[in-house]
Amino acid sequence: MLDQPHRTPAEPSLDEKALAKALSGQHFIAGRFVAARSGKTFDVVNPATGEVIGQAAEGDAADVEAAVQDADRAQKDWAKMPSRKRGALVSQCAALLNQHKEELARLIALETGKALRTESRVEAGAVADIFEMYGGLGGELKGESVPFAPNVLSVTVREPLGVVGAIIPWNVPMLLMALKVAPALVAGNTVVVKSAEEAPLTVLRICELLNRVLPPGCFNMLSGFGPECGGPLVQHKLVKKVTFTGSVEVGRIIAKGAAEKLVPVTLELGGKSPMIVFADCDFDKTVMGAITSMRFTRQGQSCTAASRIYVERPIYQRFVDAMAAKVDAMVMGDPLDEKTDIGTIISDEQFAKVKGFIDEGLATSGATGRACSAMPEDPALKKGLFIQPYIFTDLANESRLVQEEIFGPVTVVFPFDDAEKVLADANGTDYGLAASLWTNNLTLGLDLANRLEAGLVQINQNLVVQANLSYGGVKSSGLGKEASLESMLEHFMHKKTIMVNYAS
Ligand code: ADP
Ligand code: MG
Repeated sequence: MLDQPHRTPAEPSLDEKALAKALSGQHFIAGRFVAARSGKTFDVVNPATGEVIGQAAEGDAADVEAAVQDADRAQKDWAKMPSRKRGALVSQCAALLNQHKEELARLIALETGKALRTESRVEAGAVADIFEMYGGLGGELKGESVPFAPNVLSVTVREPLGVVGAIIPWNVPMLLMALKVAPALVAGNTVVVKSAEEAPLTVLRICELLNRVLPPGCFNMLSGFGPECGGPLVQHKLVKKVTFTGSVEVGRIIAKGAAEKLVPVTLELGGKSPMIVFADCDFDKTVMGAITSMRFTRQGQSCTAASRIYVERPIYQRFVDAMAAKVDAMVMGDPLDEKTDIGTIISDEQFAKVKGFIDEGLATSGATGRACSAMPEDPALKKGLFIQPYIFTDLANESRLVQEEIFGPVTVVFPFDDAEKVLADANGTDYGLAASLWTNNLTLGLDLANRLEAGLVQINQNLVVQANLSYGGVKSSGLGKEASLESMLEHFMHKKTIMVNYAS
């Protein structure tokens, strides 16, 4: 147990360690911090030092019951509020998140090991942006009028679904949570979020902040382990929609749970996103594009990471060398240091998994793995979960490193000669989340974009998910879409048809 009583600051706090302690050991239900019914907690660890920075409440079915019952009670009144008013409250949430941006950035850097300058601040800014966008869409929850027959007025109206159960991962927990919570709320639902066990504190702070604006019970937060806390949330009778971001394996379990109750489910799962580079590309811009696409600053912990890079043979070697030189110049170190580009892997479990892939690549005969950047020298970081970024070449397309999601700073580069062959290789995994093409030949680029099996294809850029653009994968990468107006209308509401026969 913590020696310090729970007391969170009212104003933005830049003392991330004190804030982590103050948030410790609590869920947030019905507008209040509460301990787990069982009284149990588990440690939250700073992956850059191995230090325990706080505790999380260990939720189970009893906590789920309390949170869902409360969310259900709150939903009735929330849904009655005019939708523009709900939007206005969500816009106020955005303003508050903006005020707390630096606080949230520091706390997420402490909790996840993501570098403050290159990643954590960007994420904190995106969260406020997502709330701002959805807050402005409260007036857009429109149905249609349908020409059915003379003297019959036929219209559709959109209604909220009820309580939404949201299960989130640790890699960009604030942003991925925002993509679920903001549209769900504006649509008139209430939400119970189950945070990831590796990153429960920053999202808990967000929940606390937003509860200053929202009526109690609209937004609740539970921490805990997957099967023990996430499982009962998915199965709860009053949860009318499940939205999940995480692994394919757990996605299948969630989909089965939702199928038992016959409620809609949205799944954002893994990826093995190809980047295809033609010799006529803008070379320097594309090398930088490869660095950002691979999300090296996030230690490659991204479902859209360009973890397979296909480069047309005439520029292949030069491209690999230029990429390696760029990654070499990146600074790995203390996530909270402004000089740091690259932070740490999230957990021991992920660390072992990523190392396993690297060792396998290095042991593959004929393959080359180039370690880039340098391990930090600071003794305070010696227990930190740092992994040097790796660029692999000369691996077979069937290799596990090429087919499976590594979720670490490991990319594989291939030379290619033929556009049709590279398209077949790019499409040749179970995943279909994102892809990028780099060429000045837009006829070729658009033709391939149309034939790539992916939910998001970008030419000559590779941005992360944007609030107003529909996002979501095909094949094993998921089901349904997030972000954009459409995701709010189609995935957090249902349509009712009302017909009036006014024939005299
Ligand atoms: P990762 O491999 O990155 O941990 P997971 O898919 O395991 O990704 O986890 C994503 C989220 O799903 C986390 O919040 C986790 O606790 C939750 N989760 C894991 N297993 C289950 C489960 N059986 N039921 C519900 N939620 C789960
Ligand atoms: Mg897991």
